[in-house]
Amino acid sequence: MILQPDLETLPHHRLRALQADRLGEIVRFAYERVPLYTRRFEEMGVKPDDISGLEDLAGLPFTRKSDLRDTYPFGMFAVPMSEVVRIHASTGTTGHPTVVGYTRDDLEVFATVCARALAAAGATPGMILHNAYGYGLFTGGLGFHAGGERLGLAVLPVSGGSTSRQVDLMLDFRPEVLACTPSYALTLAEELARRGVPPQEVPVRFAVLGAEPWTESMRKEIDGLLGARATNCYGLSEIVGPGVAFECAEARCGSHVAEDHFLAEVVDPDTGAVLPDGEMGVLVVTTLSKRALPLLRYWTGDVTSLSREPCACGRTFAKMSAVRGRTDDMLIVRGVNVYPTQIEGVLGTLAELTPNYRLVVTRPGTLDELRVEVELTEMLFRSVAAEMLSEDELDAHHALAGLREALTQAIKSAVGVTAKVRFLAPGTAPRSQGGKLARVVDERRLD
Ligand SMILES: [Zn+2]
Repeated sequence: MILQPDLETLPHHRLRALQADRLGEIVRFAYERVPLYTRRFEEMGVKPDDISGLEDLAGLPFTRKSDLRDTYPFGMFAVPMSEVVRIHASTGTTGHPTVVGYTRDDLEVFATVCARALAAAGATPGMILHNAYGYGLFTGGLGFHAGGERLGLAVLPVSGGSTSRQVDLMLDFRPEVLACTPSYALTLAEELARRGVPPQEVPVRFAVLGAEPWTESMRKEIDGLLGARATNCYGLSEIVGPGVAFECAEARCGSHVAEDHFLAEVVDPDTGAVLPDGEMGVLVVTTLSKRALPLLRYWTGDVTSLSREPCACGRTFAKMSAVRGRTDDMLIVRGVNVYPTQIEGVLGTLAELTPNYRLVVTRPGTLDELRVEVELTEMLFRSVAAEMLSEDELDAHHALAGLREALTQAIKSAVGVTAKVRFLAPGTAPRSQGGKLARVVDERRLD
């Protein structure tokens, strides 16, 4: 279902005209109201009137996360606090969190793009939405909450955590729609399986998953375990939260960017030059309608590509490919760039392994070492561990030698790095409790 067909299927030339109008307006607004933009424009000798079309955008500098941190907490807000009705903040691992403000109109945009995402995934008015995104400073919970209400769903605000209770509610209330992170969808699926609920008896039909990068193999796993169709929803709090881009149920191949509100570019990570459609680079987003925190050419750090091929669903919004990772999640192991999703993709090709894994990078001597720790399936584990085995005995078991060889080879050919493999018993890798799951431990930074 298309929530706003008049906008979501706008012919390209009319969409570009709408974007150009809004861009001119937002550039002037940001220049007049945000001291950082006033200064940047003056340093560059650029006036808002110089940005008269989309092709002039490339002349503007990027806005980076560090700009938000440097002006912490409210230095980039473009409206007085009397016009701000909501504040969200992302938890930073280093330094200040990034703080995002919303006017009443901004919240309407936020709810609308989340409602579009739910509708595109297959949700229709009257369905129940089990919303297991975290509620609080994180944008996921409240974003899908408002989006669900906007679409006409009955929203169940369960938030993250208390998995057993969530599954009780799921079996009693029978929600057709689930919204959460992909890793938490797996946690819920495992609990359902542990209780012996077969996929065809799980009520969920549509799962709208996001807030962390995931792979096609993980999608297959989730589809199978829940008996549902999982679609991706992309977003980041600095731009608005979830809903910046979303997959349609028809194609499930790339996420449509809500281009009437967010102007997307893909740029070369080293030179910053705009790349043509189809080429991988860093996603850069300009907000076209937000007022409390307008951002010009925001450097998301997410690595993706754009496509403007016609889509089966009829939407004309450009599609971004599945995010390969953030430039700041990328690991450099012995000089090779490694994204966790590449490893995840390899694990998904081996039926003996579950999608639960952890990557550990160490530097025992002078060379980096990448260790891939992955859980065995229950069936393989039982056939190997007939007797009680310690973790080390399990990992070293002769029956796993062939699997170890196959996995090491597959990682080497996909990623270009020889990794050490460690096999874990089912249920021992870290699980998502609803928030983002940290799958990478970089112990090199500890020395
Ligand atoms: Zn589509």
